Amino acid sequence: MRSRILIVGAGIAGLSLAQRLTRYGLDFDIIEKNSSETKCVTGAVLPFNAVRELKDLNVFDRLLNKFNQISEVTYSTMSGRTLGTASLADPPFENDQFITLKRQDLKGSLLEGLQKKVRYNTDLLSVEHGDNEVKITCSNELLNGTYDLVIAADGIDSAVRAQNYEGQQTIVDHDIVSWRFLISYPDHGLHPLHMIGHADLFMVYPVGPNALYCYGHIQEQNDLYSLTQDPKENLLRVFTSYGGAVPDILSRLDGVEIVTDRLKSVTEPIFFDRRIAFIGDAANGCSSLIQQGIATALEDSRCLADALAMQNIDQALQSYMERRQKVIAHVIKYSDDPVAQLRNMQRWSTRCIRYATIKTLGPPNVLGWRKLATGRHF
Ligand SMILES: Cc1cc2nc3c(=O)[nH]c(=O)nc-3n(C[C@H](O)[C@H](O)[C@H](O)COP(=O)(O)OP(=O)(O)OC[C@H]3O[C@@H](n4cnc5c(N)ncnc54)[C@H](O)[C@@H]3O)c2cc1C
Repeated sequence: MRSRILIVGAGIAGLSLAQRLTRYGLDFDIIEKNSSETKCVTGAVLPFNAVRELKDLNVFDRLLNKFNQISEVTYSTMSGRTLGTASLADPPFENDQFITLKRQDLKGSLLEGLQKKVRYNTDLLSVEHGDNEVKITCSNELLNGTYDLVIAADGIDSAVRAQNYEGQQTIVDHDIVSWRFLISYPDHGLHPLHMIGHADLFMVYPVGPNALYCYGHIQEQNDLYSLTQDPKENLLRVFTSYGGAVPDILSRLDGVEIVTDRLKSVTEPIFFDRRIAFIGDAANGCSSLIQQGIATALEDSRCLADALAMQNIDQALQSYMERRQKVIAHVIKYSDDPVAQLRNMQRWSTRCIRYATIKTLGPPNVLGWRKLATGRHF
């Protein structure tokens, strides 16, 4: 008898898993609470391991002409004084690619062939463990019932995780507010740049010669700025004293959709509980400081799908956890350790130490990528 599998969430993790299960001939249902019309309006930075996964998934070719390859990353002070630059073409990355693209293009490429399969406007409402099965209810009554396996791919604010661990704290909020947006900027001539302020950071990544993906964040508890409900006003308040291209970028915000978010992490990674598996941010969401979220979602999907193709569900869940545990611990460490430093950046002495570290060791996100590429945890 074929197993009944339900994927909750058609984001990066859910769609990439759906692609892999389809390839293996494994049937599944997939639900998504948003409508099919919902658009992603920001960009994404994909480091080497995310690109490797897209190639393995045969999705990379669908993105040709839609991505921008990046070859270096620079860190500077908020005034624009360079602290460090690192090449992304040198070992250990000489055979790899780092890219930026519109998130909508990435989602579109993962959705190809699955449009009719995803049940949109379908919100998971409850999960309940049974004997070797999970009973679910969702906003589409036709899908209510029992599944042999439920896979939570429903993001950092996972409803499945919240239901499963009701009453327990499974998320930490780092008290950092972030804003992301894409702007059109013809012939910008810019390279990837992270500008470090006092309690804040501004990041610019080109998405082709005429568009920029920008990201800014600030420690919420700070002595410098009080925030309002208006993202544009907040961006202007916090980043107006920055140098380089930032004033010019801020002058182009009219009509631009700005996504406000908070940096959050899981209190500890969760791989499975009985017949519920967790993948992507639902399993191991952490700060986006070294841009590992998409790579992790894609890797989780590959490991779980490979295991399901070869083993029974219980063995597959165990194998999935064993394959992912070690690397996830490293990803969380490299992503979340720098968050603690951010809390102290308002102190002049901490900033001096951070600047000196960047001058000596190079850009921290590139350092994190190098550690992941050369570590023994893969
Ligand atoms: C500010 C910021 C910047 C980031 N930048 C980068 C970057 O540049 N590069 C990078 O690699 N990562 C980045 N990340 C992280 C990355 O976005 C995530 O790690 C990645 O999207 C995780 O994929 P996912 O599929 O697990 O979750 P999501 O992409 O969040 O997808 C979850 C899906 O589940 C659906 N869902 C939720 N609840 C339910 C429910 N109850 N029922 C049905 N469906 C549901 C949601 O609508 C959504 O479609 C960033 C994150 C933030 C916050």
